[in-house]
Amino acid sequence: MATTERDAESVERTVADLVLQLRADYEIEAVGIGAAGFVDEKRSRVNFAPNLGWRDEPLRMAIEAAVEVPVVVENDANAAAWGEYRFGAGQGRDFAITVTVGTGIGAGIILGGSLYRGRWGAAGEFGHFTVDPGGRPCGCGNRGCWEQYASGNALVREARYLASERRTEAETLLGLGDGTPEGVQGRHVTQAAREGDPVALAAFDFVSRWLGQGLSDVTSILDPACFVIGGGVSEAGDLLLPSTVRALSESVSGRGHRTLPSVVIATLGNAAGLIGAADLARYR
Ligand SMILES: [Zn+2]
Repeated sequence: MATTERDAESVERTVADLVLQLRADYEIEAVGIGAAGFVDEKRSRVNFAPNLGWRDEPLRMAIEAAVEVPVVVENDANAAAWGEYRFGAGQGRDFAITVTVGTGIGAGIILGGSLYRGRWGAAGEFGHFTVDPGGRPCGCGNRGCWEQYASGNALVREARYLASERRTEAETLLGLGDGTPEGVQGRHVTQAAREGDPVALAAFDFVSRWLGQGLSDVTSILDPACFVIGGGVSEAGDLLLPSTVRALSESVSGRGHRTLPSVVIATLGNAAGLIGAADLARYR
C-alpha cells in the first residue's frame, strides 16, 4: 500500500490498516516492518528517519497496540539484505553484504549467517562514510559522503553536468528528456547509455568507479564473500558491473594475493525488504 503522507501517525495508520485487511484472509502470527531510518538494537523504536517524521518513535508499540500481534521493526536496508541472503542473490553466502544503490546508498551486513546490526542497531550506514573530505554536501549534514558520488542521485547529477559541458555529444541523452541538462532523469541515463550515448556512458563510468572504490574499502574492513547490488541503479546491470568490479580489484589492498568478493545484482527487486522483514519477524 502506498503512503502519500509523511507524518508518523498516518504512516502508522496505513501499516495497521494493511495488517487488519490481510488478517481477514490470512492467519498472522507476527508482523515485520522494514523502516527507512535508524532502528534501535531492540528492533522496536525508530530513533531517526531522515525522510519521514519519525524521531524517537516507538513504532513497535504503536503498531502492536493497533493490530494485537507481535511486531518486529528492522532497518529497511537490513531487511533487504536479509531477504537477498535467505531467498535472493545472496543465498548460501554466509558473508554477504547487500548495497542498495538508489537515491542514496543503504547497506545490510550478513556475517557468518547472521545480520550484523552493531551495538545500538545503527551499523551498515556505508552511504555516509567520507570519501572526499570537504566534498559535496550530503543530506546527513556532512560533506563528501560516498552516496554523493556513487548513488542514483550522483548518476543523474554527473549526467546533467557532463551534458551541459559536452552538449553536442549528448544528443541522444538530451533527446530523451526536454532537451535541457536539467531535464535529464535517471531512466534517461540508462536508456541513452544502452544506445551508446558517450555522455551517459561516461556518467555510468563515473558512478561505477566510485562504487567499486567504496566496495574495495568495505572489503578491506569486512572481507565479505559477496556484494549484492540492489536498488534502482542496479537495474542497469551490465552498464554498472564491469567497471565496478574493475575498480574494486584495482584498488583493494593486497590485490593479487587475496580472494576478492564476487559482485552480483540483486534478484528480489523492491520486494527484498518486504520479504526480509517478514522472515525476520519469525526470529523474535
Ligand atoms: Zn552523508
